Amino acid sequence: MKKRSCDVLIVGGGLSGLYTALLVDDRLKVVVVVKNTVSQTNSHLAQGGIASEMSTDADLLSSHFEDTMIAGSRLNDEQAVRVLIDEAKENIEQLMRFGVTFDLDRAGLMHTTKEGGHSHARVLHSGGDATGKEMMAPLWKEAEKRKNIDIVEDTMVYGIVVENGEAVGARTLRKNGETIHFQAGHVVLATGGIGALYKKTTNAAAATGCGIALAQNAGARIRDMAFVQFHPSAFYNGESDSRSFLLSEALRGEGAVLRNIEGALFAKRYHEDGELAPRDVVAQAIYREMYDTWADYVYLDTSPLGAEYAKKRFPTIAAHLNRNGYTLGKDWIPITPVEHFLIGGVQTNLSGESTLPYLYAVGECASTGVHGANRLASNSLLECVVFARRIAQTINKKPGRTLEPQKPGRLLQSARFDYAPIRRKIRQLMEEHAGIVRQKPGLLEAQKGLRDILNNLRKHENHHRNYYETLHMTIAALAVIEDALEKETSVGCHFRLI
Ligand SMILES: Cc1cc2nc3c(=O)[nH]c(=O)nc-3n(C[C@H](O)[C@H](O)[C@H](O)COP(=O)(O)OP(=O)(O)OC[C@H]3O[C@@H](n4cnc5c(N)ncnc54)[C@H](O)[C@@H]3O)c2cc1C
Repeated sequence: MKKRSCDVLIVGGGLSGLYTALLVDDRLKVVVVVKNTVSQTNSHLAQGGIASEMSTDADLLSSHFEDTMIAGSRLNDEQAVRVLIDEAKENIEQLMRFGVTFDLDRAGLMHTTKEGGHSHARVLHSGGDATGKEMMAPLWKEAEKRKNIDIVEDTMVYGIVVENGEAVGARTLRKNGETIHFQAGHVVLATGGIGALYKKTTNAAAATGCGIALAQNAGARIRDMAFVQFHPSAFYNGESDSRSFLLSEALRGEGAVLRNIEGALFAKRYHEDGELAPRDVVAQAIYREMYDTWADYVYLDTSPLGAEYAKKRFPTIAAHLNRNGYTLGKDWIPITPVEHFLIGGVQTNLSGESTLPYLYAVGECASTGVHGANRLASNSLLECVVFARRIAQTINKKPGRTLEPQKPGRLLQSARFDYAPIRRKIRQLMEEHAGIVRQKPGLLEAQKGLRDILNNLRKHENHHRNYYETLHMTIAALAVIEDALEKETSVGCHFRLI
């Protein structure tokens, strides 16, 4: 077992973790640990863009505020939403100083698009529909230049070290089996979402809910885990277990329409904004149409876009569909809603601090309160940067702590099991009982199943990454189920039939 120390330990190298690292005072030693390689994140997969008014016009800012509140069923934390909207432009400008570029229109101004729930076009994008990849590349380049930032790949955090009621470090396990205990002045969780708990998801495989389990095990508060957003339009890939490919909401923003398998338009029957209603409404409408027509999918009719424009504006999506025999801008594409985004998570204040001193959470694993009961499209990349910067500012202002040498933790035996059957069981329980529609008997069944799995895992501990990851998945899944049981009323993306 090795020991290392740093001022700031950041768990996760997606947009939220990396941007925090870049904004921490360069006199502080920062270590960013990532579970796999640096590109295996949800941030790299982001397509549609990042929502931000680039003007200081009060009406435009209040319209972004209002759209966010409406999408979130007004369960949002108003102060957090104010911060999100008011600090958007400064953070976009900071991203640009780091080398991020956004697509321009013919007049050389930033091109903006519209997505569900936005009352007008305010979504900036990059590389057409490759916003995440295009944003992450310059940020990594910048991080590599920084002498105070050390990026450690293939290293999984499996425990937060807590002493005297404060976070003081983390225990990590490398892919090669090496254990490293980090002592850190500040620990930032930036571990992303929970897609891997579901059979069908748009998320990267690393989205196993580690941050939720790590925070909960350390004694930090978790909230609103029932609010899991299902994206209305993932490319339907039958029974395949592979990651579902997302068809960005911006396609609907630019004219694509929804049809059920009988060819009928239906979105306006559910909401006056039709295809561009908030995501929870559209996903639930599609679910209802699939149910009524005994089908596994509906269609996204992309013909209003025209093939030539669609290929230019959405090159990544067009290429993917082409490989699967469809032409974007011409065809009706089979789509289905799948798990996409975790709204709840580790509860934080406006500075990104969790309820455990010196433990912070940012990005998808955090619950800042900005999304309420349903996230407005393209507000998540914005949340990543706005609150990452706030965490960096908080850390930069805090005086350093003198930490006592850490006591060596108990090291367990290690066996190379992959836990595949348990993971399958978790996914099956979650897909069946914690999907778009939830019912009390199903939630209780899932709770029982997950509690049994948890008891078994705890009885047979194993110092192996597969063990810890499966344990984290179980804890995060139980948190979703138990919150869904507690929330008896349907709101936003939590729909309780009974
Ligand atoms: C297909 C797709 C399209 C999207 N499109 C958009 C969009 O257009 N606009 C928008 O606003 N949002 C979009 N989103 C959502 C948005 O991309 C994510 O919410 C956001 O990027 C999350 O960033 P993050 O930094 O919190 O997590 P991630 O980018 O997922 O990074 C998580 C990091 O944590 C690491 N990690 C996890 N557990 C551990 C552990 N135990 N130990 C060490 N490291 C760990 C991982 O290795 C990874 O580096 C999209 C999401 C997907 C999946």
